[in-house]
Amino acid sequence: MNFHTLRLPLAALAGLVLLTGCPDKKPAETADPAAPAEARLPRAPVFNADSAYAFTARQVAFGPRVPNSKAHVATGDYLVATLKGYGLRVLEQPFAAMTFDGTNIRARNIIAQYQPQAARRVAIFGHWDTRPFADNDPVKKNAPLDGASDGASAVAVALEMARVLSQQPDSLAPNVGVDFIFFDAEDWGYDAGTQATLKNQLDGAGDSWCLGSQYWAKNLLPANYKAEYGVLLDMVGARGGKFSREALSREKARFAVDKIWNTAARLGYTDYFLFNDSGGASDDHVYTNQAGIPTVDIIDHLPNNPEQYFPNYHHATTDNMAVIDRKTLKAVGQTVLQTLYVD
Ligand SMILES: [Zn+2]
Repeated sequence: MNFHTLRLPLAALAGLVLLTGCPDKKPAETADPAAPAEARLPRAPVFNADSAYAFTARQVAFGPRVPNSKAHVATGDYLVATLKGYGLRVLEQPFAAMTFDGTNIRARNIIAQYQPQAARRVAIFGHWDTRPFADNDPVKKNAPLDGASDGASAVAVALEMARVLSQQPDSLAPNVGVDFIFFDAEDWGYDAGTQATLKNQLDGAGDSWCLGSQYWAKNLLPANYKAEYGVLLDMVGARGGKFSREALSREKARFAVDKIWNTAARLGYTDYFLFNDSGGASDDHVYTNQAGIPTVDIIDHLPNNPEQYFPNYHHATTDNMAVIDRKTLKAVGQTVLQTLYVD
């Protein structure tokens, strides 16, 4: 690993000048302890919450991004065009799959590389599809949902990071290359809690969730892909979002968990990033970890609630733009963007 030369905080510099002029005082041995912690963070670009909100709304406006639908194809095309427009190297990975209810779907994973020549890499993962039914909804269990937080918000945060990074001059580029990897068909899985009357046709054949990341993990693109760590964003846009340190993330990528949560704290986002250990979520990071990329799942879930893991909007029709809050998008986006600059 290489290490950044940390920028010396201005307050510390001022202190040194002052102390040099007063020979009766001993020079400080370390940086001024009175300097605010955030002043010692490497300089990172500003993540624009309005832009991330607009990226969320833009995806939702296509309609539910359910595989095999026109909205799904149109959204995928929009993501590819947008990422290419930022000058990233974009790869598409089409695949066919069967879902638990026997539907044959055509899907694609979308990969966009920033600084593709950089040896050191960080992966930002998310899923861009929408669950076809709101099976957690108290009333409309078969209705489609907008997936504003569950899906769109994560892709939106990633798009805003890509936009901001692509606009940086070389002098403000991070020391790592970044791969934005959007999985398809994450969310068409069998939920035994809500769908017990249905037959899971994939029972015994594997996990009915995370079809895109399972495919990608078996067919890495780019070939032989490696990253120092990965960050899976999932449901990162809702008002009052809470991000605890999820079990599999702690087990597989403790160093990255600490790096992200410490960065969040230094930026003042402890209302969102809780220093709280929680149970495991079955999510795309199961497969990216299996593929050898230590991956952290930043996922909105209720802290310390043995009855309920996810918030009420999860897989319900209330997961629409009304639940989205720019402050949550900002907390997650600025934290992850800043973390790219921290060695
Ligand atoms: Zn979901």
